[in-house]
Amino acid sequence: MSPHDPVIGVLALQGDVREHLITLAGLGVTARPVRRPAELADIDGIVLPGGESTTMCRLLDVFELRAPLSARLGEGLPAFGSCAGMIVLATSILDGRPDQLPLAAIDIVVRRNAFGRQVDSFETDLTVDGIPGEPMRAVFIRAPWVERAGRDVQVLARVGDHPVAVRQRSVLATAFHPEVAGDDRLHRLFLDMVTGPAS
Ligand code: GLN
Repeated sequence: MSPHDPVIGVLALQGDVREHLITLAGLGVTARPVRRPAELADIDGIVLPGGESTTMCRLLDVFELRAPLSARLGEGLPAFGSCAGMIVLATSILDGRPDQLPLAAIDIVVRRNAFGRQVDSFETDLTVDGIPGEPMRAVFIRAPWVERAGRDVQVLARVGDHPVAVRQRSVLATAFHPEVAGDDRLHRLFLDMVTGPAS
């Protein structure tokens, strides 16, 4: 447990930053947008929002965040990526842009826009390992899925055969958007990963 209340950064280059900030604020934690390298210094965890992963990957370079963020992730900074955020955290991307470089913070291969045009967006009730109670209402918007997960990656939920929620040590990633569904249980799980579970 860290000696102070955790501060969570939300990568604020593009995407649904506000929804994550609101969900985190609702849990009583300090949450702030991160756009500059210096803003990475005093955070205890980082959320990568949903949005558009090719743009986000490009802006990581434009804002000179790639190297310092990779360094902090390498040191074990807990991270939670939703949808585009999952893609940005992945080791490699199928159907990405050829110049799209992810952060390789979790040992997964993701396929962008995997559910295809006919189901670009859908909602479903999903049972997620580690989330007690009712299934979660999961909102998928031009979502990826996990095509391959490394040995150390726990699959927490699937749609059909495809992993859509995964965790490896201190990195959590979902193909859906818990931040838009009014259900804060995955954010709570992430906070537990940041601070250690409440005793
Ligand atoms: N399809 C988007 C991408 O590739 C992700 C969509 C989302 O975050 N809702 O980045």
